[in-house]
Amino acid sequence: MSSIPHLIARVRPEFARSEQDKSCHFFPVPSGGPLPETLRAYCGFSIAPGQAEALEGPAGMPCLGCLMAAALSD
Ligand SMILES: [Zn+2]
Repeated sequence: MSSIPHLIARVRPEFARSEQDKSCHFFPVPSGGPLPETLRAYCGFSIAPGQAEALEGPAGMPCLGCLMAAALSD
């Protein structure tokens, strides 16, 4: 199953503190319901929607943990 939609996002530059903050993380998109208070990336990194910047595609440095987890989730 690879039909789960992914959201690619990173922490907005003004909130980014660490290298992990600046990386692009992959998030499983909850189907239908409202956005949860905290988005949890495949790698375990969590981000508040208000501090997230959604991206059209991978930009900058992708999070390796998310890449691995997304690749293994099929
Ligand atoms: Zn990640």
